[in-house]
Amino acid sequence: MPAQIIDGKALAARLRAELAPRIAALRTRGVQPGLAVILVGDDPASAVYVRNKVKACEDTGIRSFFEHLPAGIGEAELLARVRRLNQDPAVHGILVQMPLPRPLDGQKVVEAIAFDKDVDGLHATNAGLTLMGRPHFRSCTPYGVMKMLESIGVNPAGKHAVVIGRSNMVGKPMAMLLLAAHATVTICHSATPDLGALLRQADIVVAAAGRRGLVTAEMIKPGAVVIDVGTNKTPEGKLAGDVDFAGVSRVAGWISPVPGGVGPMTITMLLVNTVEAAERAAT
Ligand code: NAD
Repeated sequence: MPAQIIDGKALAARLRAELAPRIAALRTRGVQPGLAVILVGDDPASAVYVRNKVKACEDTGIRSFFEHLPAGIGEAELLARVRRLNQDPAVHGILVQMPLPRPLDGQKVVEAIAFDKDVDGLHATNAGLTLMGRPHFRSCTPYGVMKMLESIGVNPAGKHAVVIGRSNMVGKPMAMLLLAAHATVTICHSATPDLGALLRQADIVVAAAGRRGLVTAEMIKPGAVVIDVGTNKTPEGKLAGDVDFAGVSRVAGWISPVPGGVGPMTITMLLVNTVEAAERAAT
């Protein structure tokens, strides 16, 4: 039997609809959730990501504050902008689109964001709290993956989860959230000698390497859940994940597609975190 599809687009739409009454309740108290989005420079991919985030805010009833800054902006001025937003009570969440143009230090800029406005969950305090199993803001992509597992009734407790990738944005927080949910977690990365041997033991696979076609059918245990975070461009300019979708879907129990899987969930969890930030600020 072919794998069932984890429809991230449909789940994202459901979760966004669930935000509507929370946003309405805030508005009766005179609060509109606000997200500040900073784009530095003219990277076309970053511009598309930012546009999608701003549009998602508008569609959901979240106020967006968009700042497009020149690539040559100095570090001191960028940090000053972030600190000004930290002080602004209309701004509940702040996101600085990564990567930043050189020589700006992305992590330094993230650390300048007040941790209780860091809706991307990338501040060292938020990363640390996630590590300790008491997250304040979960990093959006791993948070979305956890919601996808929940939506198909898969409880990670007692399962073996293999995460491919160890970045601060995806791999590491993903592993921590799975661990907090009582999975046994293996983290694989570019220096892992035999990826297939580890993947074949996995009940849950989360692929976040950014390598098209890395995960193939013979690496997958029959019935496993396979979630594909990777986004890669095909030679034809189309979007493709890290998983050989056609092959793996003949073996896996569940599989998420690219596009239409993790991508819409990432933006949605950013909205969820922003509404949560506004609710916390309003109490
Ligand atoms: P990254 O480049 O920072 O990290 C990639 C990780 O994959 C590294 O830890 C590396 O060790 C590991 N890796 C690379 N090649 C490997 C291999 N052959 N075998 C095992 N591990 C390998 O990237 P990232 O920011 O973590 O993102 C990972 C992928 O997920 C990218 O394709 C990115 O575009 C995508 N992404 C998608 C979303 C989304 O919303 N869909 C969000 C964030 C990232």
